Amino acid sequence: MLLLQGMFVPAIKGQGTEEQQKKWLPMAYKFQIIGCYAQTELGHGSNVQGLETTATFDPSTDEFVMHSPTLTSSKWWPGGLGKASTHAVVYARLITEGKDYGIHGFIVQLRSLDDHSPLPGITLGDIGGKFGSGAYNSMDNGVLRFDHVRIPRDQMLMRLSQVTREGKYVHSDVPKQLLYGTMVYVRQTIVADASKALSRAVCIAVRYSAIRKQFGSQAGGPETQVLNYKTQQSRLFPLLASAYAYRFVGQWLKWLYTDVTQKLEAKDYSTLPEAHACTAGLKSVTTSATALC
Ligand SMILES: Cc1cc2nc3c(=O)[nH]c(=O)nc-3n(C[C@H](O)[C@H](O)[C@H](O)COP(=O)(O)OP(=O)(O)OC[C@H]3O[C@@H](n4cnc5c(N)ncnc54)[C@H](O)[C@@H]3O)c2cc1C
Repeated sequence: MLLLQGMFVPAIKGQGTEEQQKKWLPMAYKFQIIGCYAQTELGHGSNVQGLETTATFDPSTDEFVMHSPTLTSSKWWPGGLGKASTHAVVYARLITEGKDYGIHGFIVQLRSLDDHSPLPGITLGDIGGKFGSGAYNSMDNGVLRFDHVRIPRDQMLMRLSQVTREGKYVHSDVPKQLLYGTMVYVRQTIVADASKALSRAVCIAVRYSAIRKQFGSQAGGPETQVLNYKTQQSRLFPLLASAYAYRFVGQWLKWLYTDVTQKLEAKDYSTLPEAHACTAGLKSVTTSATALC
């Protein structure tokens, strides 16, 4: 559900036209469809411009043909793809009138809504166990390939640019920088989640340290709460302070996201670099510290 609410819905909100939002969002909110965010491929992750999946417009049928031309173009990693999702926002190279217009988002149905089996031309599955603490093994990160899968033209996310019925590529007057708002949104939710996870862990540790007693006074009095030992405090209190700090900074990032979105809509891009730097840096700092704790 996290990826549905955290990435599928924001991608449609940020990049879909009003009409597309009206059509898809109510179904997602009611969980009639489950969506994921399929961008990363085996061959390219950080370098999004290097993605290889193609979406070629066919004017004879008014459809896009989604295709994975190489092994390295297989979508790899998307959370919720392996088992749960019925739909995905898929990022692919848009090709129309023989020209490659680069990476664009498309809403693609992956599985049947009746029996959840993959639709024709679609091969997908779970990528399997992941290294690390195991925390991510509860997530069905998936792999996805397309073999000339046809989708209607109106499933290209068309807020920033469109392909007309005749196959002409046209830009809308909506600034393309709005695209980046989705990434800022996702990162600020990750900081907020890190603060929640750290708060829970610290709360458990502090409560336990308050009731756990070890060693008594020399006079044979009651044993001492371990919370009173300085070595215990030196471990717990910085984490307790961090939990508060992450919460406050998470709230500030939420405000920053709202502010940057309003400014982008007014074509003011002045705070976008700061929003990127703060959300990317704080995402890394807060999640690393929380995982180590
Ligand atoms: C748990 C998990 C969940 C994920 N969920 C999703 C999802 O829902 N949807 C989705 O589409 N993707 C998802 N991803 C994929 C994720 O977005 C990519 O892993 C990420 O973009 C990095 O790409 P990559 O793994 O190909 O690493 P690479 O791009 O191969 O990078 C490898 C290393 O090289 C470094 N590097 C790369 N380029 C540069 C450079 N120019 N300068 C300096 N260093 C560089 C990177 O920082 C990294 O340390 C998920 C990944 C994980 C681990």
